[in-house]
Amino acid sequence: MYQTKTKTKVKTKTIFCVLCWCCLNYLAIKLAEKELLSMASKLLLTFAICRLIVTVGLTMDPTELLRLGVYGQLSVDPFDVQTASLDFGMLSRAEPWAVLHPASADDITRVVKAAYESEAHGFTISARGHGHSINGQAQTSNGVVIQMSGSRGRRLGSSTPAALRPHVYEKERYVDVWGGELWIDVLRSTLEHGLAPKSWTDYLYLSVGGTLSNAGISGQAFHQGPQITNVHELDVVTGKGELLTCSEEQNSGLFHAVLGGLGQFGIITRARISLEPAPKREVESLLKKLNFIPSSVFTTDLLYVDFLDRVHKAELKLRSKGLWEVPHPWLNLFIPKSRIADFDKGVFKGILGNKTGGPILIYPMNKHKWDNRSSVVTPDEDVFYLVAFLRSALDNGEEMQSLEYLNHQNRQILKFCDEAGIKAKQYLPHYTTQEEWVDHFGDKWGQFYQRKMEFDPRHILATGQRIFKPSFQSSSNMAL
Ligand code: FAD
Repeated sequence: MYQTKTKTKVKTKTIFCVLCWCCLNYLAIKLAEKELLSMASKLLLTFAICRLIVTVGLTMDPTELLRLGVYGQLSVDPFDVQTASLDFGMLSRAEPWAVLHPASADDITRVVKAAYESEAHGFTISARGHGHSINGQAQTSNGVVIQMSGSRGRRLGSSTPAALRPHVYEKERYVDVWGGELWIDVLRSTLEHGLAPKSWTDYLYLSVGGTLSNAGISGQAFHQGPQITNVHELDVVTGKGELLTCSEEQNSGLFHAVLGGLGQFGIITRARISLEPAPKREVESLLKKLNFIPSSVFTTDLLYVDFLDRVHKAELKLRSKGLWEVPHPWLNLFIPKSRIADFDKGVFKGILGNKTGGPILIYPMNKHKWDNRSSVVTPDEDVFYLVAFLRSALDNGEEMQSLEYLNHQNRQILKFCDEAGIKAKQYLPHYTTQEEWVDHFGDKWGQFYQRKMEFDPRHILATGQRIFKPSFQSSSNMAL
């Protein structure tokens, strides 16, 4: 009985796919020729949703999903699915059932609500910024990836919706941006008004929602604080499918939860970011404020925008040599100031033996520039350092550049920190067991867990972080 049913289902699926794909494509082409592009896009979208239902066997009534009426694209195109199944780290792969290119926050609300309300066999939702995670944090294998970046202008047959374009408020000195906006585009928009965000990442091809879900730091963070302390307000779609505005004053619990929240509590669809007048060049004014021995000065004077976008130039060089799309076993650690000398001795002079390839960043951070109400975890000292090992693995026969070697060194570094009681905290953390996550959050775990139960009680969001398992997969509320 069971076998017969399965066969029928497979057969129906095959016929449906072959016939409908041809017919709908043909119709779409004809309609497009007649400049009825919007109708064609609706047909293709309908097809995509139908195909999603057939492919993944959602237990929803199909007409319910069709009735969601998303304006963007729900895609099962192999290119979209493959893109969403990988990230910059190239260390893990997970294929989503489908990829949503949202046209607005409404699309996101509809899909998250459908996942939240789906019975027994639910599905998960992962927002994906620009896919620059290292360990699959924006991936899911049992649900839908929402492609936040690049979604502007994806809506077929219509211009970019005004609601998604950056909107600069000159007098108030802030900008409202779509959660998937890249920082490079935020910069371009604000510079038109002589303004720029106060806090940066070193690399600007990252999404606003992606960096705000971590912290967003750079060499300037000791002065301005991380990006998460330079945000006035957010629009967030929670794991219950509610679109809420939050700030210090309004829904403050959600606001603080989401900042540095690793995507666990909601999807950021709009962020209001603090601005300041943009300098054209900076070197002279910065030097005036410093004490130094004049003969030791080495400067490179650049336009402000070229300085901020400097890493992109390195990216283009690496890409041209085929050295960008390789595995990146990166390790980012916050080290308390009181133990940085021990770290130097044990790691730089010990484990690495003062020999290692790839950039290493060491940035000081001032704890008072970080808001302890956010979800991010930092060492418990007034000053701590980011130490970032940004290494690429190469398959060129050099043992010291192999993925195995670099992974082994990373494990040694973490083990050393643990055994020496350095009390380091991972930035862009990656763990695979519940004990490790509880240990990472320390005193903050209880609050983090409570917030999860409040804003994403079915654990459907950002499962690629591997903190919580979706409730439909396990009877246990907590993960792993
Ligand atoms: P993704 O990797 O796509 O997503 C990261 C996490 O955030 C996932 O869990 C995802 O589900 C969640 N998420 C994504 N969008 C949203 C949203 N709108 N709402 C809620 N959750 C969301 N970091 C720094 O702080 N400073 C740097 O200078 C810096 N430089 C980098 C340079 C390079 C070349 C790379 C690869 C990374 C760098 N990073 C830096 C790390 C970067 O901040 C993280 O990778 C971060 O995740 C942002 O990347 P993304 O926008 O592609 O997000």
